[in-house]
Amino acid sequence: MKVNKMNQPNPGVKCVVDSCYYYMSGDKCSAEKIEVQPKNASSTEETDCATFISQTNVT
Ligand code: SF4
Repeated sequence: MKVNKMNQPNPGVKCVVDSCYYYMSGDKCSAEKIEVQPKNASSTEETDCATFISQTNVT
């Protein structure tokens, strides 16, 4: 689900995924809200941002 891209970073999120449509320089995220998955994860490595959209796939 595509969420609103803000003109300013979301102050509560640090993200280093610089290939994301919502990424802003300085390791910031401009998505209005993010969703993290999956349920029942047991380690940091298992979790992912489900709001991610590849910069090259934006229409
Ligand atoms: S939407 Fe997710 S992957 Fe993309 S910049 Fe924000 S936190 Fe990072």
